[in-house]
Amino acid sequence: MTSENGHFLSILGASLRSVITGGAGFLGSHLADYLLSKGHEVVLIDNLVTGAKENIAHLEGNPKATFVEADICDPFDVAGPVDFVFNFASPASPIDFDRIPIEVMKVGSYGTHNCLELARRKGARFFMASTSEVYGDPHVHPQPESYWGNVNPIGPRSVYDEAKRYSEAITMAYRRHYGLDTRIVRFFNTFGPRMRLDDGRVIPNFITQALSGKPLTVYGDGMQTRSLGYYRDIIEGVYLLATSDYQEPVNLGTHDEYTMKDLATLIIELTNSSSVVAHLPELKDDPKQRRPDTTRAQTILGWSPKTPLAQSLGETIEFFRGKMGA
Ligand code: UDP
Repeated sequence: MTSENGHFLSILGASLRSVITGGAGFLGSHLADYLLSKGHEVVLIDNLVTGAKENIAHLEGNPKATFVEADICDPFDVAGPVDFVFNFASPASPIDFDRIPIEVMKVGSYGTHNCLELARRKGARFFMASTSEVYGDPHVHPQPESYWGNVNPIGPRSVYDEAKRYSEAITMAYRRHYGLDTRIVRFFNTFGPRMRLDDGRVIPNFITQALSGKPLTVYGDGMQTRSLGYYRDIIEGVYLLATSDYQEPVNLGTHDEYTMKDLATLIIELTNSSSVVAHLPELKDDPKQRRPDTTRAQTILGWSPKTPLAQSLGETIEFFRGKMGA
């Protein structure tokens, strides 16, 4: 089945086949569930450096799901037809940028290149999971897709920021040079069940700290802001973009912009915790404010997030409570 046939078959409602790299990760595994619910077959590739088999354990025995443990930094192939290649593989937590910086750079460069080659060989549509980090510590607020960003090319976050910027650049090069059918999403902060307990990002940190009665570690004065998107809304946006004709980058995120100090207070409230807030030194190059301009997603995809923050935080707190046995 060629891509054209594949897309034609989708109109007829027949099964499409999607490869998801990072398929055992937080967002990759949720995307797998969503695509399966739409009738896709999925091939999940992950080297489990930050992904976990337990995220996809429920798919065991599902004839429409295949798991391959492999590192996409090495050239790889997938037997049979492929209609979509979703490149979701990358460590994404700032603690990983210190812990495994070379892996982060390799997966965003060699890894993306290998995924593009797979899509080209298969005649598949290529979907790149990029990030609001391409805007760095932004001087424009909120951030529209047309903003080129303010990235420190040699700082501790640069391994992720520059690898994702490279990923976007090579995706567009494949589109211009080979006519590859491509999509690029820029995720803003996204959270939900299946994040790691020791992920290090703000939501898992604050929730696990609040549930265990430990101080919530706010870096710096806590006045830096983030907009918090729930995985369910974000994955719906991914699907709408993947099945649209739109080829420029699209931001997906919410307008729920919070200071980290207020977020800590909110999580203490929602967990009924007796924890206090402890301020730690600020992180280098930590973006001071971040909120997406989602006009493009709204007008082109008809997408906007639906889940209220209290509900999405509530579900995530329950997930971590279960995981911690708290
Ligand atoms: N943060 C914090 N305490 C933590 C973890 C994160 O104050 O225990 C802050 C961090 O400094 C940043 C924001 O929360 O300003 C979001 O951090 P995260 O690591 O979740 O993702 P980022 O948006 O920085 O990639």
